Amino acid sequence: MTGLHVDPLDALRLSAGSQRPRRLRRTAALRDLVRETTLAPDDLVSPFFVVPGHGMRNQVSSMPGVSQLSVDLLSDEVRELESLGIKAVLLFGIPSAKDPLGVESYAEDGVVQQAIRVLKDATPELVVMTDVCMCEYTDHGHCGLLDADGYVLNDETLEVLGRIAVSHGEAGADVVSPSGMIDGMVGAIRAALDAEGLERVAVLSYAVKYASAFYGPFRDAAEGAPAFGDRRSHQMDPANAREALREASLDVDQGADALMVKPALGYLDIVRAVRERFPELPLAAYNVSGEYAMVKAAAANGWLDERAVVLEVLTGIRRAGADLIVTYHAKDAAAWLQEHS
Ligand SMILES: [Zn+2]
Repeated sequence: MTGLHVDPLDALRLSAGSQRPRRLRRTAALRDLVRETTLAPDDLVSPFFVVPGHGMRNQVSSMPGVSQLSVDLLSDEVRELESLGIKAVLLFGIPSAKDPLGVESYAEDGVVQQAIRVLKDATPELVVMTDVCMCEYTDHGHCGLLDADGYVLNDETLEVLGRIAVSHGEAGADVVSPSGMIDGMVGAIRAALDAEGLERVAVLSYAVKYASAFYGPFRDAAEGAPAFGDRRSHQMDPANAREALREASLDVDQGADALMVKPALGYLDIVRAVRERFPELPLAAYNVSGEYAMVKAAAANGWLDERAVVLEVLTGIRRAGADLIVTYHAKDAAAWLQEHS
């Protein structure tokens, strides 16, 4: 407190004291009232890895709590998500057989196509999104057709991506999500869908996808690790930000209905930049497998409070500018959010 003699510095501190942001943090109700960023179950998209067969539930060892599921187990799982307020899933398929051309990716009775039909039957309100890429379906594990040197061919791959998207749309998918960072993929898919009368199917483009080491656990889950080489000839260099805006802009021009940035946590500046450059388009961010695995591992060791950290991470991604978050924490987070309210 001030004494009789107030020196000039104390006087300054006193006048600064009229600005006290802590006033609005004093009670939980005040904090709720002035919170800038919301997080709700319907902001979350839950990914699934669908495998052939019956009664299959294969734990993914590097992603505790995540399993590959066969189609017959999928609908119960998804009904549970719906009861928690989650409105969307993103499907990845693990085919019964892989080959250099990834032909099962667009088979009418492929594992994802079956899963879409089952889900549209069991939970018609659910938004079914599908990953559109070749890497889970090719025996070499690359995202497209290869030339003799193992380089991912661009324009030849576009035709296959169009076929995959059409097969998903015909099965009933609401949204297709090309993830291969193949130049022209959004335009090719849009044209292929429209040519088959599938104008209703939306394209959520993985517009900005980095060649990230955080995808490691996903490759166990999706069994899509490249047999040789890496994905740096098509995915973006983690050091680049301006290029992200170029990628997003190309996809907007080609008719993307929504954009995605992947991964999320190391790239929140990119989420913000894309949000600001394209305010009119919904933006998704993918809270990827490695980000999930880090939290799960630390929590399992008792080093972090999982619930608090997950909600903080997801709120941070929303605050950076994402409307939607694809996350393996979706079910847990939705349950925690329901307890909150
Ligand atoms: Zn791929």
